[in-house]
Amino acid sequence: MPRMRDLFAPLRQFFHHPWLLAVLAALASAVLLLAASVGLTLQQMKQSESAQMNARGERFLDRLEQVFGQLREGVDQLQAQPLRGCGPDMQAQLQQVALESRFIYEAAYVDAQAACSNRGGERVIEPLRGPDIQGPTYSYWLNTTTEPNDNLAALMLGRGNFLVSTSRGHLTDVVDLPPGGSLLVVLDHGTRAIPVLGPAQDWPPTADWPAPSHKALLELPDRLVYRMATKSPDYQLVLIAPRASLPWRLNGLLWLLYPGSLLLACVVGWLVLQLIQQRRSMTSELQQALRRGELQVLYQPIFELDSRRCVGAEALVRWRRPDGSLTSPDLFIPLAENTGQIRQITDFVLQRVLEQLGQLLRANRHLYISVNLAACDVMEPRIGEVSARLLAQHRVTPGQIAFEVTERGLIDVVVARENLQTLRTAGHQVLIDDFGTGYCSLAYLQTLPVDCLKIDKAFIDALGHDAASSGVAPHIIRMAHDLHLRVIAEGIESEEQAQLLSSEGVKYGQGWLFAHPVSARQFAELITRGRRVAGRRIDDEP
Ligand code: C2E
Ligand code: CA
Ligand code: CA
Repeated sequence: MPRMRDLFAPLRQFFHHPWLLAVLAALASAVLLLAASVGLTLQQMKQSESAQMNARGERFLDRLEQVFGQLREGVDQLQAQPLRGCGPDMQAQLQQVALESRFIYEAAYVDAQAACSNRGGERVIEPLRGPDIQGPTYSYWLNTTTEPNDNLAALMLGRGNFLVSTSRGHLTDVVDLPPGGSLLVVLDHGTRAIPVLGPAQDWPPTADWPAPSHKALLELPDRLVYRMATKSPDYQLVLIAPRASLPWRLNGLLWLLYPGSLLLACVVGWLVLQLIQQRRSMTSELQQALRRGELQVLYQPIFELDSRRCVGAEALVRWRRPDGSLTSPDLFIPLAENTGQIRQITDFVLQRVLEQLGQLLRANRHLYISVNLAACDVMEPRIGEVSARLLAQHRVTPGQIAFEVTERGLIDVVVARENLQTLRTAGHQVLIDDFGTGYCSLAYLQTLPVDCLKIDKAFIDALGHDAASSGVAPHIIRMAHDLHLRVIAEGIESEEQAQLLSSEGVKYGQGWLFAHPVSARQFAELITRGRRVAGRRIDDEP
């Protein structure tokens, strides 16, 4: 089975190419932003298309009702007067009707012998076909011509021997139909559609016409169909407009989205580059820190809870920069874990512990120091070899160095188990650090070669405060004892917590209640004089 580390190696390699990463980040965000912009644009276009259709439809309907109203009035008036035939009086009558009504373009009299119109000899409208709609009183002709001349009739109404028509211009002046668009009158329950304006359209527009939905606007892939209810149930008006092709209809602001998102993508790329370079510079700074000895080790004493006797300490690394500022291990340890520099740090801590406290450890054989291991330390047998060499050199027994492993360090359990077992066989104690924050179950722990659990500070914090989770710590403690594991509570800050833990059978603890992390000298003093270090936070002292 390939090791996790081997699988991640190419990925890690990849992260060492900041330019590539920055370009990828920029590309990814460009794609995302552009997709969002296009989505937004389409949405906007849809909305404006619908709004436009609605407005057009309403204007048409208004105008049509006005036009029909005037045509009916005109033809009624002609029908009511006594004149018939094509005399000069009739001519005058026709002219008068056309003059009185704004929307009547032509008024005509037609019978078997004669035909005359208000427009004189110029033109007499003569329908070429039977009426499109034959009502009880009126006959209707729709779109009587398709010639482009706007003066030609679009609608014609007949009653008796009289015909009145309106010009197409009277319909098109309220709204311009988009090229290829049509206004249709739909008859016979939706089965027949006659264009009033514009070219004939494929009819019906959908297989299930009239569409069951009551929405006025129907959006088809290639056209918009807008249905208008009319006062008469016999016919419906339908406006059909081809959909605009995309890029040409974007309004001004939306055009800005595209260069805008490209610009933003560049900014993202630049930020990623900065971040990587900052990390890189931190990496090289850390390298320098290791060389120049800017790293220090502090010791947080660990106590037996009942007797308040110090039994050992946890070694905690500190980075004090030349300007005196301290960088938290929470910042540089994860980085060092990524770059592999953590191996050097672990070795440094181990070496420093033995240099600084070798003598103290030799003089106090019950005393131990706990050293934190990172995931990669657990994945290799290296640390066992390093500690064996250093322990021999300083004549300290392996039992006096314990190793803390977090659950995150157990990615490849088979390898971890093997290496931890080697450490234990050599005489070291192995502790699970931050227990409860990872994915390790207690049952799973049973299969690991460990001696002790460190209950994470989060669970200790909850003790005595949060009724809901204060039950977790006692639960972990009881199960740990069932598995014959020792328990250390970390982050004890109050006497109440110490008492509670003690009553639950926890033997050991560390935390600000007892002591902050202190220098080697202070720790040695604490041991030799048996003095308790408390109160003031002194972990910042060199
Ligand atoms: P950790 O191993 O869980 O260490 C305990 C952290 O809790 C330490 O923070 C310690 O100063 C802090 N602490 C102890 N008692 C209390 C308390 O009562 N209250 C509060 N609020 N905090 C308390 P520190 O030293 O900042 O270390 C942070 C983490 O950095 C450590 O967590 C450990 O994961 C990592 N680390 C530190 N030194 C090393 C090292 O030498 N090697 C490795 N691999 N990791 C280290
Ligand atoms: Ca620890
Ligand atoms: Ca911890």
